[in-house]
Amino acid sequence: MRKLLTYVALLMFVISIVLTGCGNSSNTTSTSNSQQNAGSSTSSNTNNKKLPVIGVAIYKFDDTFMTSVRNAMNEDAQGKAQLNMVDSQNSQPTQNNQIDLFITKHVDALAINPVDRTAAGTIISKAKAANIPVVFFNREPLPQDMQSWDKVYYVGAKAEQSGILQGQIMADYWKSHPEADKNHDGVMEYVMLMGQPGHQDAILRTKYSIQTVEEAGIKVKCLAQDYANWDRVTAHDKMAAWLSAYGDKIEAVFANNDDMALGAIQALKEAGYFKNGKYIPVVGVDATVPGVQALKDGTLLGTVLNDAKNQAKATFNIAYVLAQGQTPTKENIGYDITDGKYVWIPYKKITKDNINDALQ
Ligand code: BGC
Repeated sequence: MRKLLTYVALLMFVISIVLTGCGNSSNTTSTSNSQQNAGSSTSSNTNNKKLPVIGVAIYKFDDTFMTSVRNAMNEDAQGKAQLNMVDSQNSQPTQNNQIDLFITKHVDALAINPVDRTAAGTIISKAKAANIPVVFFNREPLPQDMQSWDKVYYVGAKAEQSGILQGQIMADYWKSHPEADKNHDGVMEYVMLMGQPGHQDAILRTKYSIQTVEEAGIKVKCLAQDYANWDRVTAHDKMAAWLSAYGDKIEAVFANNDDMALGAIQALKEAGYFKNGKYIPVVGVDATVPGVQALKDGTLLGTVLNDAKNQAKATFNIAYVLAQGQTPTKENIGYDITDGKYVWIPYKKITKDNINDALQ
């Protein structure tokens, strides 16, 4: 009997050590969790919660503007969600495979920058079948695709607004600098570097920039226009070819983005512009870091701020809310939602006079 009592006492002692050990280990867990969460916005009572997973596909990593968007999005996600971000390398079939994989892995939400915006319909069908909500950004799906499911959103900027602002910058310059009309024929002879075929920003910036100049009472003549795929080197080569063909007949250069404007500026420099009083107005869109530098240098006349930070934040916030099974509202995403599906981030005209507005 005494033996049995001794045995029971021993057992209780061992159990108490084990329990203390558990207590210690649970303390350790919570400490390490709170350490993990230090600096993040996750509150302590969510320590053991798994972060939602968001599958993000970018049409091409090697794009100056999209690089700003994805850097900002990665910052926004810190401590809140796990972003699985992939480079679709400018290929829709590659992106389709990446999305299939996201769906197989059952991510909680998708944030898609499509290569071809007309592919959105197929992407939505697949996402809908798996009940994974989708936020598109930067490349706007067609309206009928946007309407095909209620868990589909779009974050972007009104492309026509950027065209109008570019047109205003050019018209103001033309009116205040009569010498810009080199052959004194009263007509602005221009070239246009366009983004990519089918991209809403390429179509609408091209259209509204020129329409705005005309509405300001200025006659225009297009000497040449072509796609340079948002790309600096391609734009340089197009501009160099146009300079060989038209030389000083070209009086103004419009580019759908800053990278192409910078390519054109490089070709113009090689042709002797921007020194010894030889000047030509060039306008772009985005207000990227090198674009703003060119403004400071006096080679780029003006640009339009394409607000990468807010586009990234709105996209992330919507995806984050959806990933948690909630419905996005102005209150939980921090941005107005138009027609229940769209978040529009405004553009801003940037010239030498308000350069600081571009340095977000
Ligand atoms: C930007 C371009 C960028 C393109 C990518 C546009 O909104 O202005 O710089 O290449 O989006 O889709």
